[in-house]
Amino acid sequence: MRQAVLEKAGRFRLAEAPRPAAAPGQVLLRVKAVGICGSDLHLFREGRIGDVPIERAEGRFIPGHECMGVVEECGPGVDRGLAGARVAVDPMAHCGRCELCLKGHQNLCPDVIFLGHPPVPGCLQEFVTLRADQVAPLPAELSDDAGVILEPLGVALHAIRVGGLRPGATAAVLGSGPIGLCCTLLLSRMGISVVLATDLLDARLGLARELGARETLNASRDDAVAALRRLTSGRGVDYVLECAGAPEALAQTAELACVGGRVLVLGIPAADEDRVLFKHSSARRKGLSVFMIRRSNRTLSECIRWAMADRLPLDRLVSHHWPLDRVQEAFDAVAGRTGGVVKGIVNPG
Ligand SMILES: [Zn+2]
Ligand SMILES: [Zn+2]
Repeated sequence: MRQAVLEKAGRFRLAEAPRPAAAPGQVLLRVKAVGICGSDLHLFREGRIGDVPIERAEGRFIPGHECMGVVEECGPGVDRGLAGARVAVDPMAHCGRCELCLKGHQNLCPDVIFLGHPPVPGCLQEFVTLRADQVAPLPAELSDDAGVILEPLGVALHAIRVGGLRPGATAAVLGSGPIGLCCTLLLSRMGISVVLATDLLDARLGLARELGARETLNASRDDAVAALRRLTSGRGVDYVLECAGAPEALAQTAELACVGGRVLVLGIPAADEDRVLFKHSSARRKGLSVFMIRRSNRTLSECIRWAMADRLPLDRLVSHHWPLDRVQEAFDAVAGRTGGVVKGIVNPG
């Protein structure tokens, strides 16, 4: 089978590898579609995410954690009914026994095996083995593209749960990449008014409005703090979701939130900007609560239910497709934000 190896920052090579077999409790997935995530772009641009370098995989790192495919083979002990099923994937395999798993924080499990996080190989290859509890059958109504978007949607749902977000409130979403757009979509569908969504790219702002944002603003041209003050008559919003991973946006969170508001940090900054900085006096005087969001936590089935029940237009987030042998071009385009790219997808099969 073919696989896309990220050799070093900025450089992929296509390699051949033996097709793996499903071990007991595992399924072998024929990978159909893989989303390029912001975290993959950190690995691609910087050769690392936070303090984790791709060298941990000793020259054979394969990125990719947002994917769907078809179950090719079931290992011993796995329900044969899964064979041939179209499935979406939860990239996380937690241990289920440690203190954090038992407390319900499976996403924080120290022994978690996360697809495409160095050194664990990801899904940018024709086949990948997964624990059977990581896959969920995809209803026929959800497209392959939608199956991929379920993963970032899970991050947005996890943030909503962790932050205890409630209907009837107001929000601002900073950064309208796929995660920010998923937040705008879910918030507006659950009855939270997204007063303002921002981004640096106008094409994404159009999409943010389509998915539920009341107003949008290009942060390279306009000041989000002044705009929000105007939109809320000086009050600010109940929830600020930072989905840009940018120091400027992080600094604005404390200014945009209302007194007693909540700040949710979803964006991941570049390795040399690895800080959360906002004005202490603003945050303190307002008594803000700040939530750091780590991936998602077993949100896949709920995302599938929500996508079906509310007919979420998940396909709208996907702008580009490339075959596996053009993976270099795909990452160059998504990293360079060229051609109005929102979510780029690589199709290994
Ligand atoms: Zn992701
Ligand atoms: Zn655990």
